[in-house]
Amino acid sequence: MSFEELYGAAPEGTWAAPGRVNLIGEYTDFNDGFVMPLALPHTAVAQVSRRTDGVLRLYSADIEGGVVQLRTDELEPLTNTSWAAYPAGVVWALREAGHPVTGADIHLNSTVPTGAGLSSSAALEVVTALALNDLYGLGLDCNQLALIAQRAENDFVGVPCGVMDQTASACCAEGHALHLDCRDHSIRQVPFDLAAQGLRLLVVDTRVKHALGDGAYAERRAGCEEGARILGVPALRDVAYEQLPDALARLTDPKVRGYVRHVVSDNHRVARTVALLDAGDIRGIGPILTDGHTSLRDDLLVSCEELDLVVAAANAGGALGARMTGGGFGGSAVVLVDEVHADAVAKAVTEAFAGAGYTAPRIFPATASAGARRVA
Ligand code: ADP
Ligand code: MG
Repeated sequence: MSFEELYGAAPEGTWAAPGRVNLIGEYTDFNDGFVMPLALPHTAVAQVSRRTDGVLRLYSADIEGGVVQLRTDELEPLTNTSWAAYPAGVVWALREAGHPVTGADIHLNSTVPTGAGLSSSAALEVVTALALNDLYGLGLDCNQLALIAQRAENDFVGVPCGVMDQTASACCAEGHALHLDCRDHSIRQVPFDLAAQGLRLLVVDTRVKHALGDGAYAERRAGCEEGARILGVPALRDVAYEQLPDALARLTDPKVRGYVRHVVSDNHRVARTVALLDAGDIRGIGPILTDGHTSLRDDLLVSCEELDLVVAAANAGGALGARMTGGGFGGSAVVLVDEVHADAVAKAVTEAFAGAGYTAPRIFPATASAGARRVA
């Protein structure tokens, strides 16, 4: 159903916000560290009109079940377990921050694959936040919108995510990866024009999601906090890469040692990636991606057989480097490859999956796309 058919008039405007893949810097965001996502061409699109009567009407063209009607002054955290909690949470978070959002009619549809580690949830939140920001003249910048969206997901939906996904969706720029400091939320656009260098970044969605994920995330988070506490730093971000051997010598728990080694070394990999991209050398980051995967697999213990197979098959098939991206235990991987080898590498991964008896992966190229914007 169209916006007009549902709500009886044309929308005041239309907005789009992308999903993302993270190039490098995984499980670093909640350690006050560094990440480097880029926006996908896939977006959540919202058509929105204001209301003045406190009514919030939500509709997703991608979900059965029709319009969800709520009242803005009755939104309660953690009470709504449906998809509607994501946009409703944004309205709640805006109102909690003192913004006078008095209702809205919202029509959503999205091309971001859901549950594939590509942040379909952040896209939904950010597009809602940006639309309401524009319509209600709230004057929030992309970082502030990301924090509102994160608050919606953390406190209203109840998912303890860091700020990377929402910042990527809100702040990315076309042709660039986003260098984000998760401590002060400062951002810098770093050139990432793959086509100009004859390169391609493939996203491989393994189409598996192992149940282990949720508890494992909380366990890694607690383990990292424990490491920071023992080392006497506010967050693992404060352990310089050069101090890593000394730091590891002070940690006895093998799990915590692994987590610390991963986080400190991945922050370093982000820095090395930024330096190479600033020097115009995208190709040079290939081995850093693969090192990052090894670290996630062996030190943080968040990979799985399917993700390991993507990386192994891609690299054996001629890729420049590959790693899992996002939270792990399934979801997606990224593969950096010469354009001329892209099809062969995709075939190698697909055949490896068939050989292992896995469901065929979904493979598509990621171009560094624009962040959230008004489109009509
Ligand atoms: P990811 O963000 O990695 O895709 P999540 O589990 O965080 O995975 O978010 C997926 C959830 O977001 C879906 O289960 C659904 O509730 C919501 N969602 C995403 N896209 C849409 C959409 N187009 N319409 C309605 N809900 C959506
Ligand atoms: Mg999500």
